[in-house]
Amino acid sequence: MKILSNKEKHQLIQNTLGKKLQGVAPPPASAASTSHPTFSKQSSAEIPQKHYRFELNPAYQQIQVINKVAQQLGTENPFFRVHDGNAGATTSIQDKTLINFASYNYLGLSGHPQVNQAAHEAIKRYGTSVSASRLVAGERPVHRELESAIGDLYQVDDAVVFVSGHATNVSTIGHLFGPKDLVLHDELIHNSILVGIQLSGAKRMPFPHNDLNTLKNILRESRGAYEKVLIVVEGLYSMDGDFPDLPTLIDIRNEHKCFLMVDEAHSLGVMGETGKGIREHFSCNADDVDIWMGTLSKSFAACGGFIAGCSALVEQLKFVAPGFIYSVGIPAQVAAPALEALKIMLEEPERVRRLKKLSGFFLSEAKTRGFDTGLSQGFSIVPVITGSSLSAVQLSDKLLHRGINVQPIIYPAVAEKSARLRFFITADHTEEQIMKTLTALDEELQAIKGQ
Ligand code: PMP
Repeated sequence: MKILSNKEKHQLIQNTLGKKLQGVAPPPASAASTSHPTFSKQSSAEIPQKHYRFELNPAYQQIQVINKVAQQLGTENPFFRVHDGNAGATTSIQDKTLINFASYNYLGLSGHPQVNQAAHEAIKRYGTSVSASRLVAGERPVHRELESAIGDLYQVDDAVVFVSGHATNVSTIGHLFGPKDLVLHDELIHNSILVGIQLSGAKRMPFPHNDLNTLKNILRESRGAYEKVLIVVEGLYSMDGDFPDLPTLIDIRNEHKCFLMVDEAHSLGVMGETGKGIREHFSCNADDVDIWMGTLSKSFAACGGFIAGCSALVEQLKFVAPGFIYSVGIPAQVAAPALEALKIMLEEPERVRRLKKLSGFFLSEAKTRGFDTGLSQGFSIVPVITGSSLSAVQLSDKLLHRGINVQPIIYPAVAEKSARLRFFITADHTEEQIMKTLTALDEELQAIKGQ
């Protein structure tokens, strides 16, 4: 294989990742219709192959390009690495134990004996599937216990649990809003929110990341032109590790009579003195946010998502949200460990304190070494911006060979110049593991610069 110079590698990346890949925005939603496009009709013989063969799909061809680039660079593909067991502060890949910064097992509760036990007991009692939508025959006591515990955690009326975090956002926004409504969202908002907005048919307007002045200006100009207006933000941004000014958002919501939704996928279990999220961090009233969304797949060591809020919200989602009523209920052996994890989080607040201390330690040590940690505030997520997809992939590969697993985040998930290694810190990491990692990263960065 031809050995490429660094300049040639950069050229290759630019030519492939940089130019050929299109943005990550989902394709436009199409409404069901019986009418056909009006452009000129093609005979069967004229229909191009790319319209009926998957291997000619542009998306598939782009994936082949990425694989080819990885091959040419002599690095292993950093995606779909197979982990042999439970992943937390350490993980096992190909029977090798590595320090792990790529899992959102923030509180170290996936694999916790009590959490595992809850799953075992649920299987013994309920089998492996609830075998129906909850609306019809899929309801089990553990669903109600979990929802009531989440409602209590947020100090709101109630909560509803969906089988997937992604589906929670899609179904909730898709159902609650429509073509006469407006959804305003932070430009870094998660894909599940974007897909939900598309499904709703509402007008979508992004505002620059955490720029609440622009949000205010948009509302001053446009609020009156719409019926319902939703503002959606995340509690902690998963690529950058920073968070919005929630008290100001609440003021904006009150002044302009909007709904406010906070996706707490990454802030629950992480922010606040006892892990109750961004609301606890800012000491805000739960009622000042209309839709609290969270996932069960991070701090709660399971899978699924929830919406917590007033009864009118929860009740209607339970009766009409398509992703709830037309989907099977969350399996008991998934709901039960999530409930157990929630209880442990509250019983053992030292986990949250440890996580905060270790995350702060990681951030300050990274800064001391001059790493570009972007906007990170030191809550579990710390990026180290490498400035190019090539260096992010190379560094991830080098660290893997030194016993450290960290995921590169590359274009188009982030802008090319913002390509990064993203470190997820958990309550079970040690300061020694962090020091070893940052020292290794420092050495590898110097080596790359010297090339
Ligand atoms: N919201 C945010 C902010 C996320 O980062 C994610 C994915 N991690 C989701 C929603 C979807 O959650 P899940 O992976 O549990 O489906």
